[in-house]
Amino acid sequence: MSQRFAQLAQALAAVAGGLHGRGWVLGTSGNLSAVVEQDPLRLAITPSGADKGALRAEQILLIDERAGVISEPGARPSDESLLHLRIVAERGAGAVLHTHSTWSTLLSDLFGAGAGLPIEGYEMLKGLAGVKTHEHREWLPILENSQDMPALADKVGEVLKQHKDAHGFLLRRHGLYTWGNDLAQAQRHVEILEFLLETIGRTLLMKKQAN
Ligand SMILES: [Zn+2]
Repeated sequence: MSQRFAQLAQALAAVAGGLHGRGWVLGTSGNLSAVVEQDPLRLAITPSGADKGALRAEQILLIDERAGVISEPGARPSDESLLHLRIVAERGAGAVLHTHSTWSTLLSDLFGAGAGLPIEGYEMLKGLAGVKTHEHREWLPILENSQDMPALADKVGEVLKQHKDAHGFLLRRHGLYTWGNDLAQAQRHVEILEFLLETIGRTLLMKKQAN
């Protein structure tokens, strides 16, 4: 196994522990990946059904561009591997992170009918790659959830083509996907987007209580 894969596996396990500590990938939820090699495409990814609070580097799998496992024949990669591969293909991402947080679950449902959630006017937006001002308007697309992963991957591909500036998207009543040039940037995007989602959710609650 390449040294780069071993390093990324360590890093992914560490990031999973951090996300679990924030309550964003409880139980076996969520999944994480990082590009080991672009050509041919090789992705380090979390296995299916692994508890993210106790994930070890040895559990991380190496897959090819069709989600076939290279590192451990017979092992099963994340059920959502096809979504990770599509994001990498569409965005040239170096890492993809997916959380099942409370706020992304709640807001993806509340704003689901509009197929997206606008985020505007917050200083924290400047933590997203390329954003220079709080006046930025981020559109976080929302897709209907599905267990048909090939079909959902195609929908993700369409949405990413439609919203070229989006830094992430939500799956309805499911969670958040975001990515970055590398794992550090993807991790930053999770923190920024989760902060913004919680802020929007709490603001809506406070407004309701004030009325
Ligand atoms: Zn998921």
